[in-house]
Amino acid sequence: MNQRLAARDLAHVWHPCTQMKDHERAMPMIPIRRGQGVWLEDFEGRRYLDCISSWWVNLFGHANPTLNAAVRDQLEQLEHVIFAGFTHEPAIELAEALTNVAPRGLTRCFFADNGSAAIEVAVKMSFHYWRNRGRGGKTRFLTLTNSYHGETLGALAVGNVALYKDIYAPLLMEVFTAPTPDAWQREAGESWEDCARRLFLPMRAMLEQHAGVLAGVIVEPLVQCAGNMRMYHPIYLKLLREACDEFQVHLIADEIAVGFGRTGTLFACEQASITPDLMCLSKGLTGGYLPLSAVLAGEEIYDAFYDEYDKLNAFLHSHSYTGNALACAVARATLNIFATEPVIERNRVLATRMATAAAALVDHPHVAEVRQTGMILAVELVREKRTREPYDYRERRGLRVYRHGLTQGLLLRPVGNVVYFMPPYVITEPEIDFMIGVAGEAIEAATCD
Ligand SMILES: *Cc1c(COP(=O)(O)O)cnc(C)c1O
Repeated sequence: MNQRLAARDLAHVWHPCTQMKDHERAMPMIPIRRGQGVWLEDFEGRRYLDCISSWWVNLFGHANPTLNAAVRDQLEQLEHVIFAGFTHEPAIELAEALTNVAPRGLTRCFFADNGSAAIEVAVKMSFHYWRNRGRGGKTRFLTLTNSYHGETLGALAVGNVALYKDIYAPLLMEVFTAPTPDAWQREAGESWEDCARRLFLPMRAMLEQHAGVLAGVIVEPLVQCAGNMRMYHPIYLKLLREACDEFQVHLIADEIAVGFGRTGTLFACEQASITPDLMCLSKGLTGGYLPLSAVLAGEEIYDAFYDEYDKLNAFLHSHSYTGNALACAVARATLNIFATEPVIERNRVLATRMATAAAALVDHPHVAEVRQTGMILAVELVREKRTREPYDYRERRGLRVYRHGLTQGLLLRPVGNVVYFMPPYVITEPEIDFMIGVAGEAIEAATCD
């Protein structure tokens, strides 16, 4: 059955982020019949632990009874309605809930339907804000090396992962790029904090130099997920917030991957006690059920668009499925789980267990670093531990880990040569031990020659 479905799939379906030829041999396509909690099951009864939350979206497990019920209930009432001129309770309650838990001052919620679209919204909104304020010369954005903000042209332009970006460079707006503060680059004896402070200096210099033309700086708070799960100290965000205020540049926080408890707090920005000017949310927003995103803004930005019709100052951006009722209903139910259960506290226990389970990997001869921020733990594989000489990408060591994991019941999906764990929060401690134990065997099998 697996094979029959895979063959039909490959006859017509073009999959994301994939060299389709790989499916002929390197990566057999795996049709999934059902999911339950952290487990996925294929058509031959084999089970896979979803170590990566199905691309970082799932929070409370597959087929979660509470979230299933939220979708079912909403389905009986209203599936969708035009969101211009019309509204509905799920969207209202979700906007209330989001602005209630968001960093203080983010009181306005603009919906879109996926992460990249939220980035487009934030970029347009930032530029348009300055224009409405009579500063139309602020047209540029500043981003970090190794950053990722999605795949549509605007989002790609403000991102920096060469694998996704370089080919399309001729189509993209130009941005300024400052060095990432990620702690992987720290010098001998340097702390994460010192590293972040040192690497803030060039950022500050660029802000100062380009303030007149800069609309916003966009960052992924604390973890550059698609950029090999590189992590940095929260002091960087604090310094960046201060400098953005000083030079009158928006701080755009892309919490699409790190929001909703991934980093140990509900939002990563909390660890720096900052409020960004714009905050982008998606992925975990609906618990991994339906596509939805939101851009949160404060009154100052909202007010700049609030005017008489004939001034033509309104923010006209729209998507057909903006504010979809089913998606809003399941997102509201997801936030309700955070409100009624000690999710963050429970995650602290789980994160500690992940650290304990992964401690054995630290001394592995091909592991350069085991790093962790909350519920994200990453293991960076290298050819040469001492010099950190990387593996040639053509050796596809990560793919070997992926394949070995599948044979042993794990869905891992390394980014390059970085094996990482970002499981749903309903994982148990024994499942964590299983996940990291088997991944350790996969790493051994992938690096033994
Ligand atoms: C996934 C991701 C995006 C893009 O979201 P999509 O829904 O895949 O378009 C943007 N920013 C970050 C940090 C992400 O991880």
